[in-house]
Amino acid sequence: MKKRSNLTLVLAVFLIAVVMLGRQFKPSVSPNGTTGAKTEIHFIDVGQGDASLIVSGDNVALIDGGKQSAGDAVVDYLTRNGISDLDVVIATHPHEDHIGGLVDVLEAFDVESIYLSDEAMDTRIYEKFLDAIDAEGIDPQFPDIGDTIPLGDSDAVFTVLAPGANSSETYGNDPNTWSLVMRLDAEGCSALFTGDTTAQVEQDMIENEYSLLNCNVLKVAHHGSRTASSQEFLEGVSPEFAVISYAKGNSYGLPDEEIFERLEPMGTQIFETAEDGTVVLTLSDGEVGVAS
Ligand SMILES: [Zn+2]
Repeated sequence: MKKRSNLTLVLAVFLIAVVMLGRQFKPSVSPNGTTGAKTEIHFIDVGQGDASLIVSGDNVALIDGGKQSAGDAVVDYLTRNGISDLDVVIATHPHEDHIGGLVDVLEAFDVESIYLSDEAMDTRIYEKFLDAIDAEGIDPQFPDIGDTIPLGDSDAVFTVLAPGANSSETYGNDPNTWSLVMRLDAEGCSALFTGDTTAQVEQDMIENEYSLLNCNVLKVAHHGSRTASSQEFLEGVSPEFAVISYAKGNSYGLPDEEIFERLEPMGTQIFETAEDGTVVLTLSDGEVGVAS
């Protein structure tokens, strides 16, 4: 009798240990790579360029896709995260480090809708990009200031803050000024995606839409160039988190030191894709968290 109860005890301890170990080794990330937060923003490390993935439930948006040479890596990243189709693709402006990788993305996935800056560029990559949109069988849309873009059937929504229709008439021939600047509102949080916009466009946003600039998260404009991110603009945004997307040792010498000098006194936590790799932020119940 005594022996048997000892055996039962040993078995019970063993079972408890197995259960506890099982718990310990249970992955904290769900199989499709998401964190369980309602909405996530992934600033994908694409080297020199930009690619921001927004996931809200089953709804997916991609803002820019990095250079053409980063296309495979972006497709791979989306696939690894269990993504099979995209509700929204936004190309901020026609420069290669923003639209290049989108060619592969359009070829690899079903895309529901695509939004472009209203100015085209006479380059081979832009032509290829338009061909890929054509092959997808969708008509690109050219949003104006104040237009909203829903993220699938989620509650998340983008609002266009710049540059407005006929941007080259307003701002001239620098394609950076044509960058769509988009504010995302989701889960009581907000994020600002700035493309490669410039201080001139920022000034107009300060004058016209100042109250909409304040956001939890800022994708810093133009890979941290001093041609954007004016002191006044950054104060308007006053972000908790800022992400600078660039490649280490890039030929432009970006990011510029001034951007850090302006953001650090505000207490902003700064991420750099060149240093930190892909940065994933979670948006839930008014709080932004850092997943990786
Ligand atoms: Zn760029």
